[in-house]
Amino acid sequence: MNQRNNHRLVLFPLPFQGHINPMLQLGQILHARGFSITILHTNFNAPDPSSHPHFVFRSIVSDLDRSEVPISDIPGLISLLNTRCASPFEEHLREMMLLPGGDAVPITCVISDSLFSFTCGVAERLKVRALTLRTGGATSLHVYTILPVLKEKGYFSIDVLSGSRSEEAVKEFPPLLVRDIPGFDLQKPEMTLQLFDNMVKVIKSSPGVIFNTFEELEHPALTSVREVLPVPDFVIGPFPKCCVTSSSSSLLAEDRSCISWLDKQPLKSVIYVSFGSVAVVSEAEILEIALGLADSEQPFLWVVRPRSVRDPEWLQKSPSHFLEALERRGKMVKWAPQMEVLAHPAVGAFWTHNGWNSTLESISEGVPMLCMPCFADQGVNARYVSDVWRVGLHLNGGLERENIARAIKRLLVEREGEEIRERALVLKEKANASVRLGGSSYQALDALISHILSFE
Ligand code: UDP
Repeated sequence: MNQRNNHRLVLFPLPFQGHINPMLQLGQILHARGFSITILHTNFNAPDPSSHPHFVFRSIVSDLDRSEVPISDIPGLISLLNTRCASPFEEHLREMMLLPGGDAVPITCVISDSLFSFTCGVAERLKVRALTLRTGGATSLHVYTILPVLKEKGYFSIDVLSGSRSEEAVKEFPPLLVRDIPGFDLQKPEMTLQLFDNMVKVIKSSPGVIFNTFEELEHPALTSVREVLPVPDFVIGPFPKCCVTSSSSSLLAEDRSCISWLDKQPLKSVIYVSFGSVAVVSEAEILEIALGLADSEQPFLWVVRPRSVRDPEWLQKSPSHFLEALERRGKMVKWAPQMEVLAHPAVGAFWTHNGWNSTLESISEGVPMLCMPCFADQGVNARYVSDVWRVGLHLNGGLERENIARAIKRLLVEREGEEIRERALVLKEKANASVRLGGSSYQALDALISHILSFE
């Protein structure tokens, strides 16, 4: 610890797993550089303070009832959180500033999720600076900045939304297809567009934006974003690579039995399957996934989160062909220590929904991906994984057992997969280099610290 521990940073994560993880990792990174960290969080999806004993935790009552909006309606939940959290956030911040005895160290700066649209205004009123954290990638942010143009060009019209043009190329943004456009897949495109538009505005008016990515991965997108959002930016990821400790921020209990199971599997043989913390699959989809895994003939580790399958009885109804495969060479858990899984030598590929954290974690460990995006930025991330960085295969909606089994074999055992695996290792090395002394992310972190200290 050094002299900076008389500087307190107040971090305010959006209360979803994919946003809590990077914010708490950022807290760890800045704590290791000597800052005192307070995590201001909602009582909805509250993180576990015992996993981070070196942070101060403060809970604000977001007044959000779980039954009010379905957990799968993320745009609805984010809108509601923005309405309900503004006043309590301001009250808490004011209290922390007026009563420094409470958290002991004066506040140097707030860092809030860029999907919170009110925090910068509150901070300005209270005369404290508020940086913003973009938890997703730079490429998807670039897409968000051109959504109004895409809307004008008719990409959000009924026939597009209904799927008849979903395979068409987006000529304004190669190599995206219409189906990859964020918001295209959701029930409430207008609300989603509004959220993204708010986020772009928040970043534009902030005194700086922090990115969980690395320059070598997303340089072209970062260049475009810098043109339209001319604010100081700090590209300091991949966050998990910069953390000295690997404290978990999981909202669900991690089942560690999968690590001892992995220990018994051959090197690079296992397909790890997880669709993140929000995506839900239908009864028909789960059956194809199960049979695809069975037909792949590879060992598999599959995360099936509680309530992530529409039919809770699906396992009992599964064909014996799958149950036998599960018994012989499979493992199912409700939640895994994902970063440890991806770093395990037995894991050969990751079948993912391409949430940004999962994508970046996979890239950081050099694990090739099988891409099955579900919503939001996942379509963009998946398209870049398969077509631009070329470290994965895209299922392109082909969620039939034959396609799945074929893709798993291509990725894990065939020659085509070998090239993808080699590229994944090259990208992993670039990620490692970016966070090493003198690397792009390392230097950007130094710049971020100087920027924060200049707020004094
Ligand atoms: N995760 C985990 N265990 C699991 C599944 C996911 O720890 O079994 C973590 C994963 O490492 C990632 C986060 O949950 O950090 C999911 O974030 P992501 O952006 O990939 O997807 P989202 O959940 O937001 O859709």
